Amino acid sequence: MLEIGCHLSSAKGYEAMAKDAEKICANTFQFFTRNPRGGTAKEMNPRDIEKFRERAKKQGINRILAHAPYTLNACSADEKVREFAYNTMKDDLARMEFTPGNCYNFHPGSHVNQGVETGISYISGMLNEILTREQTTTVLLETMAGKGSEVGRNFEELREILDRVQLSDKMGVCLDTCHVYDGGYDIVNDLDGVLTQFDRVIGLSRLKAVHLNDSMFGFGSHKDRHARIGEGKIGSEAMIRIINHPALRDLPFYLETPNELPGYAEEIDFLRKAYQE
Ligand code: FE
Ligand code: FE
Ligand code: ZN
Repeated sequence: MLEIGCHLSSAKGYEAMAKDAEKICANTFQFFTRNPRGGTAKEMNPRDIEKFRERAKKQGINRILAHAPYTLNACSADEKVREFAYNTMKDDLARMEFTPGNCYNFHPGSHVNQGVETGISYISGMLNEILTREQTTTVLLETMAGKGSEVGRNFEELREILDRVQLSDKMGVCLDTCHVYDGGYDIVNDLDGVLTQFDRVIGLSRLKAVHLNDSMFGFGSHKDRHARIGEGKIGSEAMIRIINHPALRDLPFYLETPNELPGYAEEIDFLRKAYQE
């Protein structure tokens, strides 16, 4: 069965997210661990988690994906910003243990004139300080569109980060379809080729999740503007090939398209119908 969901608001807690997921026929979902712009996180509520766990079991939700705030920049030139990144991720990973065995996705960051090498060393350095052997969460690097000085604009940069992280088995990658297309990987005309490249550079065993977004702008535009499925430059046919591809079809897919719940429900329904059981 297709494992698909979308980004949901975490404002009302975990049980509320499971309820939202049920409304739109999602069997997984993504959520921000705190306000997307950063700030302090709400305290974890064990009762809410317990109710969530019961619901998840009934609804067939086997895994969920957390997303770090956008403001988290592990390779900022500003020490204060790097410190915020460190504290936030450390705290988020502690909270993730309330729902063990899931994934936590983050944007590697923007090096802003320091150069990609400096960026990569800050990012891997932070991960080496934070990751523990005991944690059950897998931390995912998201493939980025290469807007501005974003690190992770190509598979090689992600591989370089992974290579420098000691607890490598705690790390994985989340592929964002809008970002890779924007970044110059032609998943419309050569999906096989792109995935072969991903396998050669990073290894497909590292791929743990897919962000399923159409792209408002064209191939290689480095703009990072998501579009609804079928309303962008990637198009529905390519999306259908993506969810059915043998290397991807068993992964969880997350919509981050400009939608409210009813729009997400439509996209999920469309994709479920297009999935070859
Ligand atoms: Fe993201
Ligand atoms: Fe994304
Ligand atoms: Zn994006």
